[in-house]
Amino acid sequence: MAGFPPDPARTAVTSQDGVKAALPAVRAGLRAMGLRLTVPVRVRLVGPDEMASMTGSHAGRVLGWTIVTDTEVVDLAVLAGLDGPEFGAVVAHEYMHAWMTQRRFGRVSLPIAEGLSQLAADGWLERQSDPRARTLRAAIAADPDPVYGDGFRRVRAAVKRHGLMPVLRTVRSRGALP
Ligand SMILES: [Zn+2]
Repeated sequence: MAGFPPDPARTAVTSQDGVKAALPAVRAGLRAMGLRLTVPVRVRLVGPDEMASMTGSHAGRVLGWTIVTDTEVVDLAVLAGLDGPEFGAVVAHEYMHAWMTQRRFGRVSLPIAEGLSQLAADGWLERQSDPRARTLRAAIAADPDPVYGDGFRRVRAAVKRHGLMPVLRTVRSRGALP
């Protein structure tokens, strides 16, 4: 049915089988950006209550969470029931946190860490043809939040000037954007 918007319920990721089916496309998009985890991490679906107790926030507010020790990523928790593009964006965001942990980035300010993660989500969405990806990208770009929104815009400006890998190298060595 050309031109008909896909039904979100049909593409919602609600089971570990759904995760298994959706992950290869997410990983491929991240690899195209040069992001590859040194140790593969598990993506685990959690319900709103478990996510809320894990993050100390209200149920439904947090969509993804990366559980780490100092340098090891234990797993990526993603809220069950997100539609395809949103699931991919949340995994891409958490994947960047995991990538930075595995490469021992150490202390990075919240706006830079979250801005880089939003940049990974945005970069993955940019590679999707689903019209919902465009809506999500617009929301990321216009996010008024001082950490997620301002952080993303600062990181995006730096990446436009220097490229993603040089920005990541500078953040890792100096804890700041170039
Ligand atoms: Zn984050």
